[in-house]
Amino acid sequence: MPSRVKYLLRRSGILLLALLPALFPSSLAQAQDGGIRLRTVVIDAGHGGHDPGAISKSSKMSEKQINLDLALKLGARIEKELPDVKVIYTRKTDRFVELAERGNIANRNHADLFISIHVNSARSTAASGTETFVMGTDKSQSNMEVCKRENSVILLEDDYSTTYEGFDPNNPESYIIFNLMQNAHFEQSIAFAALIQQQFVKNGPIRKSRGIRQAPLMVLWRTTMPSVLVEVGFLSNANDRTTLNNAANRQKIADDIFRAFSTFKQQYDSDAVIEIDESMLSPTEPVDEQAAIAGPHYEIQILATSKKLKNGSAELKGVTQYQCRLINGMYKYSVGNFPTREAALARLPEIRKKFSGAFVIAVE
Ligand SMILES: [Zn+2]
Repeated sequence: MPSRVKYLLRRSGILLLALLPALFPSSLAQAQDGGIRLRTVVIDAGHGGHDPGAISKSSKMSEKQINLDLALKLGARIEKELPDVKVIYTRKTDRFVELAERGNIANRNHADLFISIHVNSARSTAASGTETFVMGTDKSQSNMEVCKRENSVILLEDDYSTTYEGFDPNNPESYIIFNLMQNAHFEQSIAFAALIQQQFVKNGPIRKSRGIRQAPLMVLWRTTMPSVLVEVGFLSNANDRTTLNNAANRQKIADDIFRAFSTFKQQYDSDAVIEIDESMLSPTEPVDEQAAIAGPHYEIQILATSKKLKNGSAELKGVTQYQCRLINGMYKYSVGNFPTREAALARLPEIRKKFSGAFVIAVE
């Protein structure tokens, strides 16, 4: 028997509610009208318009299309089978919506639940499976990769530095602000995330679960209700990609999320205790993105020498994780593994503190 953790719905958040009432208008409204029920859900199809999200290798499939299809399928089932629930979509067509606006839509409509739907991607084509994120500050590196990718969408917005108060998705220091904002709806969000992952494992066309994870995701940052971000599989993985390319499979995924929603609503409405299998809480197989250096990417060259350096030699200044390549008779040493030049450039100043001549290189 796996050990179980119990989460009492709607118990959390009371302390933060008292401290920051302006940030939690929907919770206050609920408290005032007595009977608490899940009435409004916002379904957020990630990306859209000039932001395609992840793209398959052949460029034939884009994340934005899959997200929208899943969002519409999920919404249609809720509308049909749970007519007392109001379904609001952040987009119903292929259009760009700013990250902050997605949460604002939920807040303005006093939604009781926010579901953001995404497709994953990783440099390692071996990475596969589903995972559901809640807002939090887990320190794991692979979560950071998802964060950078999902949050860097704001760089496509016109006035992002004003909207997000100087937040830079590629700068780890920017994420410190999230530490101050542990989400008031953390427990409900975890409970809902667990229900989704349980459905995926039991019924899903993609049964491999990477678990429930915490990450500082901008789209979940300011929502004032339980909120999750579902990554339904990896576009970068051949099996997941084939599965996601099939409409019947996408219907199954939408059905899984629907069943999780339906159970969550029942428990939420009756103020029940949701039991969560503790094994769902810790990711079983974190992807070591740094270990998988394959495909075109960017690195930061720190040194070039005519003789090969020994591990721990003074020239390496304590750096132990590096790549060394022999090119035209010179040993070239580089660090990092960045998906974009921008991401590498963001790290460059830090590296230059030790290696003043460091520069970004493209690696095929
Ligand atoms: Zn995405």
